[in-house]
Amino acid sequence: MNIMYKSTRSDGDKVTASQAILKGLADDGGLFVPDSIPALDLPLAALSQMNYQQTAYEVMSRFFTDFTEEELKSCIQGAYDDKFDTDEIAPLVKKDGAYYLELFHGKTIAFKDMALSILPYLMTTSAKKNGVTNEIVILTATSGDTGKAALAGFADVPGTSIIVFYPKDGVSPIQERQMLTQKGDNTTVVGIIGNFDDAQTGVKKMFNSKELAERMNAKGYQFSSANSINIGRLVPQIVYYVYAYGQLLKKGEITEGEKIDVVVPTGNFGNILAAYYAKNMGIPIEILYCASNENKVLYDFFHTGKYDRKREFVLTSSPSMDILISSNLERLIYRIAGEDAEKTKNLMDALTGEGEYEITAEMKAQLDSFASGYATEEQTAETICNVYKKTDYIMDTHTAVASHVYYDLAKENGRKTVIASTASPYKFTRSVMDAIDKEKYDKMTDFELVDELHILSGVAIPNAIEEIRSAPILHNTVCDKNEMQATVEKILGL
Ligand SMILES: *Cc1c(COP(=O)(O)O)cnc(C)c1O
Repeated sequence: MNIMYKSTRSDGDKVTASQAILKGLADDGGLFVPDSIPALDLPLAALSQMNYQQTAYEVMSRFFTDFTEEELKSCIQGAYDDKFDTDEIAPLVKKDGAYYLELFHGKTIAFKDMALSILPYLMTTSAKKNGVTNEIVILTATSGDTGKAALAGFADVPGTSIIVFYPKDGVSPIQERQMLTQKGDNTTVVGIIGNFDDAQTGVKKMFNSKELAERMNAKGYQFSSANSINIGRLVPQIVYYVYAYGQLLKKGEITEGEKIDVVVPTGNFGNILAAYYAKNMGIPIEILYCASNENKVLYDFFHTGKYDRKREFVLTSSPSMDILISSNLERLIYRIAGEDAEKTKNLMDALTGEGEYEITAEMKAQLDSFASGYATEEQTAETICNVYKKTDYIMDTHTAVASHVYYDLAKENGRKTVIASTASPYKFTRSVMDAIDKEKYDKMTDFELVDELHILSGVAIPNAIEEIRSAPILHNTVCDKNEMQATVEKILGL
């Protein structure tokens, strides 16, 4: 079956997968969605026999139907190799009855690597397929993890360059150092005076500017996005949910067809949407738990049907989830609106204009496969400490938000539950070690804490951390949130 992609905001022409990947965002500001979600027409038992790369091919070939088998397989081989520190790519670790799907074994030790390892391959293949000769400028807003993962993926990839905006005071010291030490002649990192939502809004504005696009084109450039609004990021994220189900079967933890639950620590709603797509492809997932931190705009949405971003932005110990405008929710809204682009556009315009929207009861009724919980800062720290004391397993702050929601809501269902473990604890050592023993660790530097974490957990210090200990700072640009476009124009010489 041929899958085409359409915008969530108007019923314009459909595009192929490779065109959608190249564009990132639709011309009308909408997000690309597949015109149907393909079924994974395979016996579930077959999944248990497949490795990560084979699973990736099965999933991606159903969505990216204009790629040849050879093209896709070459993208997959290039992406999921020994950049990952384990052959399993995404190992499933059982602790205290729950299954932690560790998505942080890639180059930058956060789950963003799962998709951003392959996006540059998908992007350059798409460019070739569509005869694009412009240089592709990847413009990215990051709450900390996407930035580094995208930089690592696109560094020195011919025909591309990448500009990353991050909130100067909104990321962890290790996250910032990871980005500022990034090598590659085609990379630029810019700190903005503002928060993640400001960064994301600024980037979307540039994408939507026809005038800017024309000036770019005249100079041989075109934008694309490495954010999870790009369908080329979303689809590779479906893979690990399918893989996790196969692994549970393989290990004899479930029987074929047995329903499982999934808990996902959520920010921009990309990861959990991928789980929802996996469910819609036919993976037996019963409930998807959307776990929020104190920026619990999604928790409120699932409980009331009202999305309201007019609230204080809280800086938490899980910064990659400090988000009040969850972009990917638009894809779910479109679906529960009966694929009504006009209705979706009106709601999204209301969010931009009035800062809120409310869905109808009819739409809300279609959210029955979702549940939602949240963790306060205190609960997040308690969860890290409790699970460590009980099992010796040390998780990062984002995973802990999800783990709290597991203990709080999901556990009592009795179904086997997969918790998306989105970052290595080494990425958030300060918060993690403080959660375990604040008095003892408070006075140590972040890198001393790395060594302490190693002693406590016995887990090898990842290469990503060793690398930045002594690496020189290569980027130092800072701008106001209102100067993002001017900064891009300067970088590109427009
Ligand atoms: C990006 C990120 C999240 C949130 O994922 P979304 O797809 O934006 O919902 C959670 N945890 C970590 C560590 C992340 O980097």
